[in-house]
Amino acid sequence: MPGRTALKWIYAALAALAALLATVPAEAAGAGLVGTPIATCVSPVRPGDTATAMLRADARYDCVRDQESFGAGDYWVRSAPLSTRAATVRTASVWQDDATLYIAYADGVVLRQRMDGHDATHAIRLGAIFERTLPQRAAPVTRLLWHVRGSMNLRGIVIAPRLATEAQSAASDLLLGALYSAFGGLSLSLLVYNFALWGALRHRFQLAYCVLVAGMMLYAFSSSGAMAWVFSGLENNERLRINYVMVSVSTISVLAFARSFFEPAVFRGWVAWATDLAMAALGIAATAFAVLAPWHFHLLDRIHAISFVIAIAVVPVILWSAWRERSNYLWLFVVSWAAPIVLAGMRVAENFHVIAWSFLLDNSTLLSMTAEALLSSLAIAYRFRLIAIERDDARARASAAWQLADADPLTGLLNRRGFLRAAVGRAQPHLLVLADIDHFKLVNDALGHDGGDEVLRIIARALRAAAPPDALVARLGGEEFAVLVPERRGDVAAEVLARVRRERMPFDLTVTVSLGTCAGPIASEQDWKALYRNADQALYAAKAAGRDRVRHAAGPLAA
Ligand code: GH3
Ligand code: MG
Ligand code: MG
Repeated sequence: MPGRTALKWIYAALAALAALLATVPAEAAGAGLVGTPIATCVSPVRPGDTATAMLRADARYDCVRDQESFGAGDYWVRSAPLSTRAATVRTASVWQDDATLYIAYADGVVLRQRMDGHDATHAIRLGAIFERTLPQRAAPVTRLLWHVRGSMNLRGIVIAPRLATEAQSAASDLLLGALYSAFGGLSLSLLVYNFALWGALRHRFQLAYCVLVAGMMLYAFSSSGAMAWVFSGLENNERLRINYVMVSVSTISVLAFARSFFEPAVFRGWVAWATDLAMAALGIAATAFAVLAPWHFHLLDRIHAISFVIAIAVVPVILWSAWRERSNYLWLFVVSWAAPIVLAGMRVAENFHVIAWSFLLDNSTLLSMTAEALLSSLAIAYRFRLIAIERDDARARASAAWQLADADPLTGLLNRRGFLRAAVGRAQPHLLVLADIDHFKLVNDALGHDGGDEVLRIIARALRAAAPPDALVARLGGEEFAVLVPERRGDVAAEVLARVRRERMPFDLTVTVSLGTCAGPIASEQDWKALYRNADQALYAAKAAGRDRVRHAAGPLAA
């Protein structure tokens, strides 16, 4: 079970994020939906119709049927009787050729406002709302009549009309502006940060994540209507065309991200095939719409929606495969994908008229994308945590392997290789003590080889105990040991000698050691050889002088 603490902080971050996001939709609901709703009735346009006549022609209007059920075409949409001095009328942005608004006042005057594709761009407020200013006159407004030409009527002809004051409209722009800015700032920082991380670490999923965030930003930019403010020469229908492309691009990038993020085993065989198919379907449907609309508009819109059905259908397949492969990232994906997928499902249901259009649902994508972007960054953090754990494990294993290679298995002391690796190259002069067991052949003869081994272990412990904690203690081979300490650190050799004399040996055998020491530099291989040669000569001298004693050599330079 990797990273228990990592799991804990990710859970904590998720909880904080969920709390944060829970407060947002309620606010957003108040924003795009400012003002008072207006009831409307619909009538198809007939040749010879005039606005004056259609303001009065009650019998011509259908107030019961859903607007969508009328299909594409030219329509009159008339409000219920009003008596208002509201400053603006707001409706949801739709695909149409043009819409002329007739404003009837109580004194009999009717003002006319035409709005073509370019005017529509100028009328866009944040949240993709067409907002028109109602000229203020002494008499109140009593009716609004829209004459819409070339309505594609996907979700309605005049959708969600509302009367609003200037203050309500400004408050809506401010609040949605703050929300979109927060989303934009967040996305931009995620983008820059993850791109920089990709520069450092070069994991492919990081790039996929950057594409995902960039796609979401572009979709938010076009669908919020902010694009209309920046590119005021762009016709509104063209902006909607870009919307279709951007929502597909960001969904493709979600799948691409999943594909590069999960362990390769998750995307094997037909799971990979199904995911590729879904991405291709999204790409083809969006391209077809972008190139061909408004030709066979409803069909293209339906194909676009179907490509999302395919994409959504692939998700459980991926999750199932991730579950089967025991992916480490499954639970994080479930958490971060849940909101976007449920909302995408609801939008598709809306498209197929299973549920009614709503401003909130239309704008929910932004919030779910924010959640997705944030949670995906947590998923990335979690992934890095796992990578770090793997790396630390590998390091620990490598260092254990090194230690094993440097250790003497019989005594646990350093072996010659480990001793040399640790000793040679040290800057300051050191004292080398060589210890050789006296008449060890006789010890072996007396105790057997295993008994001899036990004596070696006892001597090793005695050396370790007699040497200072920072000393290097090694078994150089056979029954020869070495202790290395920085120079002038007490009389280590005498300590060793005394300690060995005190040790109790098997069968109370008396075992002694002879020691030779030499002090000098150990910065290079040559230094070591000189130091060792002198200490060995001193050891030989100790043996020659009767064993169980120490002999000190002069420094290697003097030798
Ligand atoms: P001196 O006092 O001159 O050092 O006499 P010595 O018998 O200790 O010297 P020598 O170097 O001739 O003999 C060392 C013996 O140590 C020979 C070998 O059988 C024994 N020996 C070497 N490695 C081991 C080991 O790992 N275990 C055991 N039990 N004996 C070992
Ligand atoms: Mg010996
Ligand atoms: Mg020997």
